[in-house]
Formats: sequence, structure tokens, C-alpha cells
Amino acid sequence: MTDFSHRLVRWYQAHKRELPWREHRNPYAIWLSEVLLQQTRVEQGTPYFLRFVERFPTVEDLAAAQLDDLLQVWQGLGYYARARNLHAAAKIVANEWNGQWKTEVADWRALPGVGPYTAGAIASIAFGTRAAAVDGNVYRVLSRWAELDSPIDKPEGQKALWSLAELLLPAGDCGDHTQALMELGSLVCSPKQPKCGECPVAADCAVAFQPNKAEMLPVKLGKTKVLEEHWHRLFVVRDGQFLCGKRPISGIWPGLMDLPQPNDLGMEEAELEAWSAGGPVEHRLSHRKLWIHFYRLGARDLTGQPDGFEWVALDNWEDLAWPVPVGRWLKKNSTFG
Ligand code: SF4
Repeated sequence: MTDFSHRLVRWYQAHKRELPWREHRNPYAIWLSEVLLQQTRVEQGTPYFLRFVERFPTVEDLAAAQLDDLLQVWQGLGYYARARNLHAAAKIVANEWNGQWKTEVADWRALPGVGPYTAGAIASIAFGTRAAAVDGNVYRVLSRWAELDSPIDKPEGQKALWSLAELLLPAGDCGDHTQALMELGSLVCSPKQPKCGECPVAADCAVAFQPNKAEMLPVKLGKTKVLEEHWHRLFVVRDGQFLCGKRPISGIWPGLMDLPQPNDLGMEEAELEAWSAGGPVEHRLSHRKLWIHFYRLGARDLTGQPDGFEWVALDNWEDLAWPVPVGRWLKKNSTFG
């Protein structure tokens, strides 16, 4: 074990957070946690993890579930393609791996939606495989420790950090090493004001106790431009029911329920002002900021034939899987239909 890894793992064993997927070395639980926690904070992702293992206790249960049931537990996490990929991957594991877990990165990489980071994390954490896993936290820790300033949103910067991560791997079981690097990034080497006084690798960190230098790392070149869009949704009510339909399985919020848009019902946006139901709801996606305007209509105001939509009892709206902003609006407004 490298000295770096030795110090890191000792610190981890003393300071790690107790998290449900760390209780046992269960590959299914570790896989779920890695998928659920991508782009999600631990505090936000943990309740989802607990709901998932309660509803789908084994990979066979997940593989046998309907996608709609999975989406219902997933709703609110965003990035719905991940849920579809998880479902497809669970079917492969349950049906083609014949109940035998694979321990190599290449096998995990072949599953839908499993990238290099997730494959490395599962292989090393679940099975101890000698594999690096570089996520945002690890990019931060290693770019600071080695003062690497190649941009991490460019292939050369990524390659340099993955190579360094591989060099630092211990010879034996890599599970705690992988988790320790991520935990250090979460708890100590934070984006602002890293706590170098608590860091087990401060003695040889190139920017230790130099917050101005540390906070400049990792370097990112391209800041993503956020586009603003205005969307319109119609809440059409008739006899205690409202009109809704399932979104296509491609594009944003795939397979979730949604309210009709004006053109679904042959209406123009300009006609809608009279039915406005409060100010727009703001919702951030990774590269877009949406302003969603809601309008409350009676069925007699319909001018078009609502193809692809169905009437659902207002009382039952929570049984369906909704995009977060639409679900939030319905929670506030469905009782006033
Ligand atoms: S010493 Fe400070 S900057 Fe260096 S890795 Fe540790 S916390 Fe991060």
C-alpha cells in the first residue's frame, strides 16, 4: 500500500460517515448508491436509497419491476435516463449474469449507463478490484494534492488525473482507498476553505494551507451557458378529473406524466392569459432554466381533441410519477380543481 493510501485509509476508518450502503459489502446496494448519488448530495440521495431497497430488495426484484414503478420511486431525483439505464442494466445482471456478480471494470462498463467512474467505484468498493474511480471530489483532492492545473473539462486534464489516481492505488483491496478519496473530498477538501488542518495527506499536498491556491483547483475552462425557456402547462379539470399524458421516452423527463401544452389542445399561448394560475414556477436543469407557466381551464374551454391524454381522478395524481416542478404545482393546486 502506498504511504498516501495508508494515511488516507486510516483517516477514513476513523472518520467515515455511517451510510446505509456501507453497512455490508453488498454489490447491489453499492451499485444503487453509486447510481442514485450521481449529481446528488448524500443527504438528498439517502432517502431515495432506502426507498429503493425497501421496494426492490434485490437486483432480481428491480429487474422484474415495471419501469413505471421504478420511475415513481425515482421521481424528484432528475436525470431520468439514469433510471431507465439502471432498469435495463438490472435485467442484464439478473438474466445474463446468472446471479453471479462480476468483479472486473470491463464487465460493469458494458452495462447501460455505467461510465468509467461508476464501473471503477463498484468494482473497487464492492470487490476490492484494483481500479481507480475519479468523480468530482476526487478530481478536486488530487488536482490540489499534486497541483495539477490541466483543465478537468478537457481530455488531457482528465487523463492526467486518472493516471495519477491509478498510480496512487494500493496493491491489495482498493475498496476503502476509493471511498476514502471521495470522503476526503466531501468532508475535508471542500471547494471553498479546505480544512487542511484535518487532512491526512497535507504533509505532501502541494497547496496545503494555501486556500487561495487550493480554491483555484481544479481548473475548468468552459463554464456552461444556461439557456432560459418559458414553458406552458394546462390544468384542465372535468368532474373531479384532470387531463394528463405520458411524456415520450426520449428527451427531458422521459416516461413521466405531464400536463398538456397549449398546442396539444390546439391552443395558442396568446389565448391563455385569462386562465393564468399564478406566477411561473422556476426550475433548473443542468443547462437550462425553465419558467413553467400554469393555467387552469375547465373542460368546456377545450378546443382541440386531446390525443394521447387521459382523464385521471384528481385524488389519484400522487400515484403517478411526475417531473418535480409539475408535481410541486399539483401538490399545491390539485385540491382546488
Ligand atoms: S491539504 Fe488541504 S488542499 Fe491539500 S488535499 Fe488536503 S484538504 Fe485538500
